Amino acid sequence: MYFLPRLVLNMKNEFAHNTYDRLCAHAREVAILYSVQSLLGWDERTKLPPAGGEYRAEQMSYLAGLIHQKQTAPEIGEWLNELAESDLAADPHNDTGADIVNIKRDYDRKAKLPQALVEELAKLSVLGQQLWVEARKANDFGRFRPLLERTIDLKRQEAAAIGYDGQPYDALLDEFEPGAKTTEVAQALTGLRGQLVPLVAAIAASSRRPNRQALQGHYPIEKQEEFGRRCASAIGFNFQQGRLDTTNHPFCAGMGPCDVRLTTRYDEQSLAGSLFSTLHEAGHGIYDQGLREERYGLPTGEAVSLGIHESQSRMWENLVGRSRAFWEFFYPIAQQTFPETLGGVAPDDFYFAINDVRPSLIRTESDEVTYNLHILIRFELELALINDELKVVDLPEAWHAKYREYLGIQSPTDSDGVLQDVHWSSGAFGYFPTYSLGNLYAAQFFEKAQQEFGDLPAMFARGEFLPLREWLRTNIHSQGRRYPAAELGQLVTGSPLSHDALMRHLRGKFTPLYDLH
Ligand code: ZN
Repeated sequence: MYFLPRLVLNMKNEFAHNTYDRLCAHAREVAILYSVQSLLGWDERTKLPPAGGEYRAEQMSYLAGLIHQKQTAPEIGEWLNELAESDLAADPHNDTGADIVNIKRDYDRKAKLPQALVEELAKLSVLGQQLWVEARKANDFGRFRPLLERTIDLKRQEAAAIGYDGQPYDALLDEFEPGAKTTEVAQALTGLRGQLVPLVAAIAASSRRPNRQALQGHYPIEKQEEFGRRCASAIGFNFQQGRLDTTNHPFCAGMGPCDVRLTTRYDEQSLAGSLFSTLHEAGHGIYDQGLREERYGLPTGEAVSLGIHESQSRMWENLVGRSRAFWEFFYPIAQQTFPETLGGVAPDDFYFAINDVRPSLIRTESDEVTYNLHILIRFELELALINDELKVVDLPEAWHAKYREYLGIQSPTDSDGVLQDVHWSSGAFGYFPTYSLGNLYAAQFFEKAQQEFGDLPAMFARGEFLPLREWLRTNIHSQGRRYPAAELGQLVTGSPLSHDALMRHLRGKFTPLYDLH
């Protein structure tokens, strides 16, 4: 064994610190570009005049190229090599170690992809989305089919280039849920399916039905906005560092450490649509606002995965926002805000109506129980497509068959069937399961918080939501990417990913509502 003299060791450490600082400065530069891209994207979806679209596309594609160039700069590889053996990289869970591990992970992934493949996928994604819009409008899957076949072919090439231990889908899933394995996700989701299908059937067979008509009436948009802001503030979204605007397809965009923007859409005839999408996006926004400001632009100041991000939005939307306790506090305020429509509606009727469960065709409009079956169908189909166990030509019928089997319904068209979602047209294979992972993690986190706080519903009924936000901030948001999602879940809850907590929540809530046994 050979020991370095102390002086040399110190120099080596100082050298490593300089390299780490350079790596961070570079990462923060990329973050600036990303945040500008995010701002342009937000503007495009909220404010941009129709004729401005073409030049905006030019701006966006220029920025995308710049970002890609920066992210694959060869000096990153050199810095990472220099840092690999340093003390700074020794612990993958402290700030410096986690930054180095994750920058290396992202860099390796990008560096493995041949330029020609990246370019063709990018081109196909733009073309695919245009063609998908046309095919969906015309209810013509045949028009979309050749492009989807080519996309799947390229995604298989992408998986092969990146490499995987288990199966090709692992490499695709990894883009959205770093570190997740197909077999583990499949196990959790298949377990969920086994329990959900009979629950959905039992609810469908129940003679109890909420009166959805009770909620119909006039909800002035400015009043909806006022009420939505009040709810988002109450659960802890900071409007000093954020905004709420209107759009067609609600989203949340973070574009700086103190600038997180929510969007929603309003329907004068319905309160639920705007309100639950505001709560959902506020859940995403609260996560972004809980990231550590001083780590902005570094992996330790970034969200860990799409699944964990979605767990935050789903928790505030469903586990909190659709709970009885939430409305014990907010329903009197809602009645004061909308006296004409809600003045005469009993709290129990309101609560049942916002928790209406029924099999439906459209994923984005589905309820808390059936939602995961929509996801399962997409996950199982895209996995079979990537594994070449299903041909694209057979996809529409496979889609219908699964809807019949899991939800007991079938779309009369492909527009509301296999052409329903934009994801596959843009090459986003491996994205869908993160929605359900979000629901699973949400239930597990919430159950743990409930154990630690003792009686969360009693707190909600008093309007106390901030302690839960602080708990999430400490345990999840401020952690950044120090732990991969599954490890973070295990660390916070003491249990591996499973469907148990979600099923306990759904049974506990819907058994009395639908009088099930
Ligand atoms: Zn979401």
